[in-house]
Amino acid sequence: MKATIWFTNNLRTLDHPLLHKACKEATTVEALYCYDPSLFKEDTKGVVKIGPYRKKFLIESLLDLQEQLERLHIPLHILVGKPEKEIPTLLENIGATDLFYQKNWHEEERQIEKAVRENLNKQLSYHHAYDQFLITPSELPFEVSELPRVFTVFRKQIEKQCSIAAPLPIPKAIDQNIKAKVSQEWETIYKEVASIKNDPRTAFPFKGGSQSGLDRINSYFWDTDHVAVYKKTRNGMIGTSYSTKFSPWLANGSVSARTIYQMLKQYETERTSNESTYWVFFELLWREFFKYVGLKHGNLLFKSGGILKKEFAQGQDNNLFLKWKEGNTSNSFINAHMKELSKTGWMSNRGRQNVASYWSKTLGQDWRRGAAYFESMLLDYDVDSNWGNWMYTSGVGNDPRDRIFDPNRQAKMYDPHGTFQKKWLQESLF
Ligand code: FAD
Repeated sequence: MKATIWFTNNLRTLDHPLLHKACKEATTVEALYCYDPSLFKEDTKGVVKIGPYRKKFLIESLLDLQEQLERLHIPLHILVGKPEKEIPTLLENIGATDLFYQKNWHEEERQIEKAVRENLNKQLSYHHAYDQFLITPSELPFEVSELPRVFTVFRKQIEKQCSIAAPLPIPKAIDQNIKAKVSQEWETIYKEVASIKNDPRTAFPFKGGSQSGLDRINSYFWDTDHVAVYKKTRNGMIGTSYSTKFSPWLANGSVSARTIYQMLKQYETERTSNESTYWVFFELLWREFFKYVGLKHGNLLFKSGGILKKEFAQGQDNNLFLKWKEGNTSNSFINAHMKELSKTGWMSNRGRQNVASYWSKTLGQDWRRGAAYFESMLLDYDVDSNWGNWMYTSGVGNDPRDRIFDPNRQAKMYDPHGTFQKKWLQESLF
């Protein structure tokens, strides 16, 4: 078997089921990543799918993956172009017999997979696995179609009936010597990211890649013990320590949720186990829940009425959109968050809830436009977490209470001295 692993948003070698399987079963193992430049440019509607901050983080993650795979003697072929054109050509050139790729459940990704397969002249064997979950669909105590609508019901069933598998180790180096084929454009692309600078005010000053993700976990757990006070700090908005900041690594799969869970359990056994350490797990279950909402409901995530198929505000005011996006609304708490997002690709969970509720409920605008803007800007963009949380906050998803946030009240509670607002609104200081 001549195996090729197609990496997408699973950019790691630790706890990678498909890599593990290929290394066990194949005679040769190669890897590929296809970088599609069209995702980084404005489309016909003027939307950029992947904005500058995520682009930088992604490229750093790929450079790190290249090094990880080199240690295993596995070449990472980096293609630049449309996957449906580039991948079949590469697979034919290298004589692959088996293609390994993670199971996706959203239409765009599945269309790409389908087109890749259709454009191959030769029949390959395909190997799939789910690669984003803590608990895979086959380990669930219910069918995905029976997923509860309310998070608490889901959480209780998982906590009572499931155990979380240990992460798989990094496979051993293979005895092979194959040169990686790297597209000529790649060098220009990765050199370009040096020009994308971090705003010194950012709450997320970290680099992409598994190594920096694992360093962050170690620092948040062992070096600082911040995890032991997470429940008290998690609604913060300033600096690196108020929350874990694991989401960007989780989103592109450079660290797996099972790895974080295992490290958390180790911390609880060897150092402290309290309400805060439990709460990190609780939040990881939110991520899990939204992944299952996406798996169950598919394209309903992107419909105005959401999974509730409910009538909802459809406002399409371009002027309001510009004001919201640029942080020029009449509310300074909202503005500070939106400026933070546009200058760093980061926003706290508290901020996200407020600006989303403000856009869809207070301004009565189409929530999907806000979600698409988040998709473009967020460092940690994840289909299910983003669209699931937007539906939730906009009242067409899984929130049983359908709340509306009052940003003035929220500012009093979470930014009582206006420190956060000053940080982002006093531009002249920077
Ligand atoms: P922590 O507070 O430290 O939580 C630990 C981990 O738990 C996070 O890394 C994340 O994986 C998970 N988590 C925490 N809260 C949530 C949540 N509400 N939903 C899903 N997972 C959660 N998260 C993303 O990862 N990608 C997105 O695209 C995204 N879009 C969002 C859009 C809106 C409108 C809202 C309200 C929330 C969104 N979130 C998204 C969820 C949440 O805001 C981020 O996961 C969190 O702020 C990331 O910071 P952290 O890693 O420090 O989280």
